[in-house]
Amino acid sequence: MGLTAKERMAIERNRMGEQPPDLRNRNFEEVPYGYTPEEAVNEAKRCLNCKKRTCVSGCPVEVPIPEFIALIAEEKFVEAARVIKTKNVLPAVCGRVCPQETQCEGQCIRGKKDNTQAVAIGNLERFVADYERENNLIELSEVPKKNGFKVAVIGSGPSGLTVAGDLIKLGYEVTIYEAFHRGGGVLVYGIPEFRLPKRIVESEIKALENLGVTIHYNSVIGRLYKIDELFKGLGFDAVYIGVGAGLPIFLDIPGMNLNGVFSANEYLTRSNLMKSYLFPKYQTPMIIGKKVAVLGGGNVAMDSARTAIRLGAEKTTIVYRRSMEQMPARAAEVHHAKEEKIEFRLLSNPVEIYGNKDGWVTGMKCQNYQLGEPDESGRQRPVPVEDSFFEFDCDQVLVSIGGQANPLITKTTPDIKINKWGYIVTDDWGRTSRQFVYSGGDIVTGAATVISAMGAGRRAAKAIHEDLMKESNETTGDNGK
Ligand SMILES: Cc1cc2nc3c(=O)[nH]c(=O)nc-3n(C[C@H](O)[C@H](O)[C@H](O)COP(=O)(O)OP(=O)(O)OC[C@H]3O[C@@H](n4cnc5c(N)ncnc54)[C@H](O)[C@@H]3O)c2cc1C
Ligand code: SF4
Repeated sequence: MGLTAKERMAIERNRMGEQPPDLRNRNFEEVPYGYTPEEAVNEAKRCLNCKKRTCVSGCPVEVPIPEFIALIAEEKFVEAARVIKTKNVLPAVCGRVCPQETQCEGQCIRGKKDNTQAVAIGNLERFVADYERENNLIELSEVPKKNGFKVAVIGSGPSGLTVAGDLIKLGYEVTIYEAFHRGGGVLVYGIPEFRLPKRIVESEIKALENLGVTIHYNSVIGRLYKIDELFKGLGFDAVYIGVGAGLPIFLDIPGMNLNGVFSANEYLTRSNLMKSYLFPKYQTPMIIGKKVAVLGGGNVAMDSARTAIRLGAEKTTIVYRRSMEQMPARAAEVHHAKEEKIEFRLLSNPVEIYGNKDGWVTGMKCQNYQLGEPDESGRQRPVPVEDSFFEFDCDQVLVSIGGQANPLITKTTPDIKINKWGYIVTDDWGRTSRQFVYSGGDIVTGAATVISAMGAGRRAAKAIHEDLMKESNETTGDNGK
């Protein structure tokens, strides 16, 4: 017999076991261990299967949350994973990195009075996806019959992978062009192993290859081929641009060119993609700071700080010009960073980085800030406090204040409309100003989230299919080429 609502309400949220902070801040193993089947079932029993499914409206891709949780409560783990996959093709990734506290869990009825008591939807999503993968129970989709159309996808981040997955299943010949030597975008080069083990992303990419997606690595579009050449020379019928927003932003202050100042992008790419964290097995050089200052307050800043401490920094400090409440990083990352003894110097910003005669960082001159009127994002604007300068001791600075659009593709294909910040302009379905060229993810929205990039990919795949089928019907009078 099922539990009553009262009995469900009496169950406390199941905490996920994790490596203790003093152990994990010296290794790159994943921090949380994941639920056991018993914990997952117990957590699933907390769900009230509400009539008004507020959790689903909080999810950007509308995963049928109560349905998959009900299946977990019945110990039908694989079935639960398959229900999630009807809407989200990367549940093992999203269960780990989505900001659930502001999305599904933020809207969960059980968290209304006390947000620490929301149903742990992300942990459950992660559990079933891991269960399915680790027990080799992933359902192999049938390799579809080809429909005669070719689509090129530029970039293998979450948006590009989603477009490729959706279109290959509809019978398209899909080729991904990826600038790096490995696929996954930020999931591989940005987010560290201790948050997202790379074997998970690799298994997703392998699954796409098994379905017939071709991936050309070390292929920078805009250099190797221009978009025109993809159409005319290589015969693609449509092109999807999912190149992210990975061009680093630096501060316009003296000392930015000193040795020991890194963009977070380069620092994390060296550590994650080029595996300097496994030095000397991988011969990627890395400068290990003793006293590291990380500028910024987002996920990128947390990942940089937590990487620095694991690589051997004695002291790592987040220097952020707003307050703790305004930090855009996921709550779980801030919590983990604090536990790992990362320090926070809030309402502060550097105005100069000092160097020695050999050009190495020796410290920073900083200024205190206070919160003023709300800005266009609705957050209170950080305002410098006059004559409030102070010295900050550090020998390495990691600049984690965001990324921007790389102009390579839009410069070499000028008829793709961009906005004043260089991001590609599209309609709601990813259509750009150029016919049969689509785009989505961070290169359209600016730095956002994995799930929003995947949602954009899904919408663009629908638009590509609709437009090519329409074109084919108009030119040939039938459904194929
Ligand atoms: C360090 C870090 C931590 C993050 N943490 C989180 C988190 O915890 N949760 C969350 O939801 N979001 C997080 N994000 C944001 C999230 O990862 C991004 O919003 C998401 O990856 C964007 O997906 P995308 O497919 O648009 O682009 P990307 O993931 O950036 O992928 C773009 C791909 O295109 C390739 N490319 C670029 N130019 C070319 C070219 N000219 N030719 C061929 N290939 C090209 C790149 O090499 C890359 O592989 C984080 C971002 C960073 C940087
Ligand atoms: S809002 Fe919370 S309790 Fe209600 S159905 Fe969704 S997950 Fe379950």
